Amino acid sequence: MLDKLGQALKSATNKIAKAIFIDKNTINEVAKDLQRALISADVNIHLVKKITDEIKDLASSEKIKGIEKREQLIKLLHDKITEILGKEKKELILSDKQSRIMLLGLYGAGKTTAATKLALYYSKRGKKVAVIGLDVHRPGAAQQLKQNAEKIKIKYFIDENEKSATKIWKKFESELKDYDLVIADTAGRHSLDNELVKEIKDLNKTIKPDHKILVIQADIGQAAKEQASEFQKALDVNGVIVTRMDSTAKAGGALTACYETKAPVYFIGTGEKPQDLEIFNPKTFVNRILDMGDIEGLLEKVQSAVDEKTQKKLKGKLEQGEFDLRDFQQQIDSMAGMGSLSKMAEMIPGFSNMSKKLPEDMLGNQEQKMKKWKHIIDSMTKQELKDPELITKQTTRLGRIAKGSGATTTEVRQLLKQYSLLKDMTKPGSQMDMSQTGTMSQKQMMKLAKKFGKKMKF
Ligand code: GDP
Ligand code: MG
Repeated sequence: MLDKLGQALKSATNKIAKAIFIDKNTINEVAKDLQRALISADVNIHLVKKITDEIKDLASSEKIKGIEKREQLIKLLHDKITEILGKEKKELILSDKQSRIMLLGLYGAGKTTAATKLALYYSKRGKKVAVIGLDVHRPGAAQQLKQNAEKIKIKYFIDENEKSATKIWKKFESELKDYDLVIADTAGRHSLDNELVKEIKDLNKTIKPDHKILVIQADIGQAAKEQASEFQKALDVNGVIVTRMDSTAKAGGALTACYETKAPVYFIGTGEKPQDLEIFNPKTFVNRILDMGDIEGLLEKVQSAVDEKTQKKLKGKLEQGEFDLRDFQQQIDSMAGMGSLSKMAEMIPGFSNMSKKLPEDMLGNQEQKMKKWKHIIDSMTKQELKDPELITKQTTRLGRIAKGSGATTTEVRQLLKQYSLLKDMTKPGSQMDMSQTGTMSQKQMMKLAKKFGKKMKF
């Protein structure tokens, strides 16, 4: 089902996740792939352009940086596709009393099949269901419904000799009262002509259905828009069942087109068998075709790591040249830590490639190292935190801190060295000036990681 679109979305996600820098080339490439995939799924060209423009805008935004941008891009991609498919799940709510569903649609749309599918679906959920055959035009229509209904042991009402659909309904009306749900299968046409409009309007008056459901085959792609709006004009339909999702690459077009006409897609048909019916939920649908890891979990992580308040405070300090050891610790934490980079890597496909580009030690013992650094910093006096040179000048201080934190004096020295290295690099006007943003750009992060990896032993 929409395999190609799924693959293309996956590859776009991977490209974003794998790229070390989200530069113009990367994003243009992603946008192109995406456009190709959406157009081949028959999604309307204007929608396609809108999505890719929004993705380009976010990518070129200067406000969001680094890892956060990567995640936001992936989330945006995910959200936009979900949005054009209908955003939220729409449920077909049946009343406590009797509900009547009238199925409408053109020839071969899958009405008769959908009638049986719905009957099975709701009977499994405890409803007493009956189907009634009101297609008086197609030879064999009643027999088809009968055979289908017998297969799933559902009560059916047909009259093969009667040529008026409303008469058939009236004939069985009193018997139908015993059922929680009555599903009416109606006749189709090659197109929605006046005759069909009149017939379904008459039936509508007689049956007084709670739900008028249009059945559309996914193969028609974007043309679903015209069909859905025509049927809505003739008889405002409540929603749609899109059938044959299993046998076309154009389903993207049919689904998005239905959403554009504001006719919610309640169900999708995914095969010929009575059980091949699924509730349509845009979110889970996208998750499934994208085959993504835990995006939500990932985003929570990013949000907690990029704490705005801390970043603002840091920005102020950098501007004043007051970046002290505590800030150093925080910055390192948010740079390499976020709990654990390797954990994050597991969550996004392709992300592990990016983490490989960081020096290995940055990932490996990082958490342990962070803990030790924290102990060392905790063992310093306020004075020492402000002016770490005191420590390098007076070995008694060095010894005291090492002892107090369970570290060696070499480790304390290493920490101080790295702090001064970072302080120099991040001075306003220096090559890694962070004073504007309060955080490092991805480029800066990579440079720093390389420097640390080369110059220092973690
Ligand atoms: P109707 O003319 O609207 O009543 O359409 P039918 O219910 O008779 O279906 C027309 C054809 O489409 C039949 O051969 C069905 O088996 C087939 N069909 C219906 N729904 C699906 C589906 O979801 N997937 C596939 N592969 N075939 C379907
Ligand atoms: Mg039929």
